[in-house]
Amino acid sequence: MTHDTSPTLIPVPAEWARRAKIDAETYTLKYRQSVDDPHAFWAEELKRIDWIKAPTEISDVSWSKDDLHIRWFADGVLNACYNCVDRHLPARQNDVAIIWEGDDPSMDRKVTYGQLHDEVRRFANVLKDMGVKKGDRVTIYLPMIVEAAYAMLACARIGAVHSVVFGGFSPDSIAGRIEDCRSEWVITANEGLRGGKTIALKHNVDKALEKVSGVKGVLVVRHTRASVAMNVGRDQWYDNVAARVDLECPCEPMQAEDPLFILYTSGSTGKPKGVLHTTGGYLVWASMTHEYVFDYRPGEIYWCTADVGWVTGHTYIVYGPLANGATTLMFEGIPTYPGPDRFWQIIDKHKVEIFYTAPTAIRALERLGDAHVKKHSRKSLRLLGTVGEPINPAAWTWYWDVVGDRRCPVVDTWWQTETGGALITPLPGATDLKPGSASTPMFGIQPDLVDADGKFLKGAASGNLVLKTSWPGQMRTVYGDHQRFIDTYFSTYPGLYFTGDGARRDADGYWWITGRVDDVINVSGHRLGTAEVESALVAHPKVAEAAVVGFPHDIKGQGIYCYVTVNQDVEPDEMLEAELRQWVRDDIGPIASPDAIQFAPALPKTRSGKIMRRILRKIAEGELNNLGDTTTLADPGVVEDLLANRKSA
Ligand code: ATP
Ligand code: MG
Repeated sequence: MTHDTSPTLIPVPAEWARRAKIDAETYTLKYRQSVDDPHAFWAEELKRIDWIKAPTEISDVSWSKDDLHIRWFADGVLNACYNCVDRHLPARQNDVAIIWEGDDPSMDRKVTYGQLHDEVRRFANVLKDMGVKKGDRVTIYLPMIVEAAYAMLACARIGAVHSVVFGGFSPDSIAGRIEDCRSEWVITANEGLRGGKTIALKHNVDKALEKVSGVKGVLVVRHTRASVAMNVGRDQWYDNVAARVDLECPCEPMQAEDPLFILYTSGSTGKPKGVLHTTGGYLVWASMTHEYVFDYRPGEIYWCTADVGWVTGHTYIVYGPLANGATTLMFEGIPTYPGPDRFWQIIDKHKVEIFYTAPTAIRALERLGDAHVKKHSRKSLRLLGTVGEPINPAAWTWYWDVVGDRRCPVVDTWWQTETGGALITPLPGATDLKPGSASTPMFGIQPDLVDADGKFLKGAASGNLVLKTSWPGQMRTVYGDHQRFIDTYFSTYPGLYFTGDGARRDADGYWWITGRVDDVINVSGHRLGTAEVESALVAHPKVAEAAVVGFPHDIKGQGIYCYVTVNQDVEPDEMLEAELRQWVRDDIGPIASPDAIQFAPALPKTRSGKIMRRILRKIAEGELNNLGDTTTLADPGVVEDLLANRKSA
């Protein structure tokens, strides 16, 4: 072995074990109760929410293909906005709910819970004035500004169903999502700002609406000074309407199973799915996981760097934190503007204590060197989190060593748009950490492994990750396509929820996500997870990022094709290629020896920052005219470069 990627165990720091709400013993007890007596467990946890009418029913779930339904707390009545805003008043009126940090570092603002209450009620009345009614779908296409949170909460307040579309999406993607959920209302801004560049949001909406009909009203938030074309009769400026509406706006009583939002998945594996979440179960799950995973107490400064266009932004910027009365930071910009140290500068500026980001950002920032991090003290930090993709042990270790100065536990949270919140994750006061492992299940979650035939695997094993029972935050359907819901998640292994991810359970019962099941490579009969080979490559000091796929191979069945991005100061050459091949052999074994290594300045990613291996697989296979759905690709230019420099293996 030339380097060590064997799992070291990092024990819970003493002060975390002392102060955390959930220590190791409590975790074990509560987890047992949550699976042995879910009724009692959830009857207690549902009290974290203020109900207009408290539920007496806990759950009514069938995962049978012929009668698939999922209901939690079904006779309960509540309002999600009330729980995120009104209930914190008057006691927490002057506490900060949202810290907003602009793309331009000189722009920031703080919104107290009292102000949030006013802004959200006003926004809700603007929606009513436009004609939005309970049950209507409202498309929100906004940058990371406070109005995005106001708009979501305003919809929840009046019972409208929001569908947030990430502000980086194109007119075609917006049109597709408007059409899919037959949304009649769009909320946007004149322009967005990211990395010093303006984004023509309103213009994109205009283009989208040339392709799709049925939209009755467009509300435009004035974010920059730019003037934009307004379509008379359809478009209105938010501030014009806001000036004439009342402040009073009651919360609409909602059934627990009334829809709260629709959100499209990232599109890593194909056409995005319109995931539907409902009100009661989702909110209980968002609040509970936010509190336990981050050991959150009101007053602490919490920053999740996701965009509200993704589920992480829904659950861990807006609903979870605000339901818990948190101070949540919203950042408009990007990690490298105006300089490569922007994240660390913001952490010092706002004294951020809990920081939650994605492996893609961690790898990108590591690539730029440690000096940018070290320049800032980061002494306010206590806890680090990651979500979105498997985090390679090397990237995990950098996060822990360099960003957290080996003081801050790293919670690697595995979950999906479909799951509403974190399902497999360490808890900082309870879980000894293994770099690269999502560790242990959240309360109420029963993961297991099956082989291709659906046979359960016992003990330490690798296989397909399934879940055996429902939890309150589970999605209820694919909007408008219940059959797709059944086919995608419940048909492969009858009676089980199939995650689409592969995983390994080690001898200690820790969970390691090995990547998408579709991405597993079968070399001469040996199954290799992409994450395993990628982690070996990323552990090399000259490698910043790697993506690995299989391709047809005459002798081995499948060969291993690696796309490698090197660190900024490295010139890739044939010597490095040979060195990497040897490096992977030394680490995993000769079976994992790469058949082709292509150096790539960048990898194709979804707009949420995930590597799109299905495109890389097509390129490796030589299927160049059939790359599949590429609408969620962040930078199509990356693909051209990959095609031009393709290796014949
Ligand atoms: P689509 O479903 O459209 O293909 P997607 O699966 O990328 O897109 P998301 O719901 O945003 O859409 O992502 C969920 C997936 O992200 C998980 O199934 C898993 O593959 C990956 N993931 C998320 N968090 C982690 C994590 N901590 N470790 C490993 N993988 C993770
Ligand atoms: Mg998915």
